[in-house]
Amino acid sequence: MSLLPSFELIRAASLAEVAAARRLHADCRLLAGGTDLIANLRHGLGGPAALVDITGLPGMQEIAAEPAGIRIGAGVTLSRLADDPLIRRHFPALAEAAATVAGPTHRASATLGGNLCLDTRCVFYNQSDWWRQSNDFCLKYRGTVCHVAPTGNRCHAAYSGDTAPVLLVLGAQAELGDADGTRRIALNELFREDGAAHLALGAEEMLLSVRLPIEPRLAAGYEKARLRGAIDFPLAGVAVSLRRRDGALDGLRIALTGTNSRPLLLSGCEALIGGPCDAEALRQISKLVQKQVSPMRTTIVPAHYRRRVAAALACRLAARLFSSPATA
Ligand SMILES: Cc1cc2nc3c(=O)[nH]c(=O)nc-3n(C[C@H](O)[C@H](O)[C@H](O)COP(=O)(O)OP(=O)(O)OC[C@H]3O[C@@H](n4cnc5c(N)ncnc54)[C@H](O)[C@@H]3O)c2cc1C
Ligand code: SF4
Repeated sequence: MSLLPSFELIRAASLAEVAAARRLHADCRLLAGGTDLIANLRHGLGGPAALVDITGLPGMQEIAAEPAGIRIGAGVTLSRLADDPLIRRHFPALAEAAATVAGPTHRASATLGGNLCLDTRCVFYNQSDWWRQSNDFCLKYRGTVCHVAPTGNRCHAAYSGDTAPVLLVLGAQAELGDADGTRRIALNELFREDGAAHLALGAEEMLLSVRLPIEPRLAAGYEKARLRGAIDFPLAGVAVSLRRRDGALDGLRIALTGTNSRPLLLSGCEALIGGPCDAEALRQISKLVQKQVSPMRTTIVPAHYRRRVAAALACRLAARLFSSPATA
């Protein structure tokens, strides 16, 4: 890694101050825990004149019970998310997913917002500046050709955040804001399938919070495959939520990370509602996953392995949750 480039650090206390900083420095970047952004800047992936620290904005650090569920500020750290009694009681899968991110020292400052807005990853991108320069850079940053799919015209870098799939299967909404106000969208709408521009945020928008509805009898879980068990991004990560009624599936959502340029909420699961989660249903889940994921050569592990692992994790998790007492 290289030395960190010089920049001005602006601590914003309101959305108006964020907007003012953005107007002053067109290339400025939002800084939360910095565990991803700072490492990328040290790799020469950008050289902004200013970083805007957003962790002091009102409400960013709160976890609050609301009539319809729970609001989690985007600045809540992952270590707090993993330990918070409210989260552990209502959304244990989210606490589990947060606890699988990076290592304990990262999680102490890494935030939920930073995890959701994490840059996409690729073996040709997450490298030092001289390494990328010797490869003529690439389409995502400073180059013209994608080394993963040279005949294509888009970046296939993989989204690898661990908390997004769990939030998707729990039906999360995202609260976005800028100096003009706030709006809510389904979390799924925050993402798009483009490794070079995977967030559907407005030019001056940022993520303020995530809202989760409390759904009775919904069991959820998260599993990830990674190279190093102690600390690593997911090669493939799968979240499942389901409900059981009279021995049949009464709700099923599956979402994945690490396989596409966005976290992927699987479609077609509704066809399995009303039937048991038996061998045939698991075969259908495996087919749905293998058909919809599109891992590319963006990690040192082959794409076909990640496809098969994603399907195996989804089936294993669905079978485990279906037989769990929490779903009955
Ligand atoms: C060794 C190592 C291992 C890691 N392993 C994992 C892993 O296993 N799983 C995983 O998911 N991640 C992993 N990470 C990445 C990172 O640590 C986490 O994803 C972390 O949650 C990022 O949060 P942060 O607050 O530090 O984000 P930052 O680094 O501050 O920001 C990340 C990006 O999000 C943007 N951003 C931050 N907050 C907002 C907001 N509220 N609105 C809009 N944009 C925002 C920033 O501008 C930046 O582009 C790892 C990192 C390292 C260095
Ligand atoms: S997928 Fe292609 S364009 Fe995207 S980071 Fe990798 S090599 Fe670059």
